[in-house]
Amino acid sequence: MKDEILSYQKMCKKIGVERIQKGMSFHIKEGISVVLMSVRPDAPYDDEIDYVNNLLIYEGHDVRKFKQNRNPKIIDQPIYTAKRTLTENGKFINAVENYKKGFISPEKILVFEKLKPGIWSEKGLFSLIDYETRISNGRKVFKFILKYIDEDIKIPKGKDEEEHNKLIPKSVKVAVWKRDNGKCVLCGTTENLYFDHDLPFSKSGSSITEKNVRILCNKCILKKHDKIK
Ligand SMILES: [Zn+2]
Repeated sequence: MKDEILSYQKMCKKIGVERIQKGMSFHIKEGISVVLMSVRPDAPYDDEIDYVNNLLIYEGHDVRKFKQNRNPKIIDQPIYTAKRTLTENGKFINAVENYKKGFISPEKILVFEKLKPGIWSEKGLFSLIDYETRISNGRKVFKFILKYIDEDIKIPKGKDEEEHNKLIPKSVKVAVWKRDNGKCVLCGTTENLYFDHDLPFSKSGSSITEKNVRILCNKCILKKHDKIK
């Protein structure tokens, strides 16, 4: 298993999302799911890592806390939402069932472990191979079995990002690269560089010239997004 320390922001950047809303995110992007786990004493769920067999036993998620102060820890973990759509538990179970029937290959799940607030460890890519339903303190709890696979992730680029890049004509990219000396114009780094422009994606490519495009690194782009928020 990997053990790569990274900040919350870097974790989001790696997945290509602005933030991660839930501990379990089925298909957060096409072809990739994410789970956030923790073995800290104060963790809300009882996740286990088996380093000998390279397995993660990941506990399913509880019902959400509602206004009437109910305790989620005494209620069966749900497969369906109140609107009868699948919960993340339900989607994970579905993926296991379909894999076992031979319909699909196992769902690939990128796992991050919380070390402390804001600090995470990337454990790597796992296959969702099985699940169990256990009775714990008189209620149903799901345990998902994830097997570590020694494989690098290829996170598909979001549609926006692809469209965005397509919008910048190659001639503009060449001119901007030359003008900005192949460096981030804000901090000067030569790593993780992107072409950044301030036009909304909906505007046509012809309105993009080297005047409104610049080179930024991923860190400076994140800072820019933080300011906008
Ligand atoms: Zn920079």
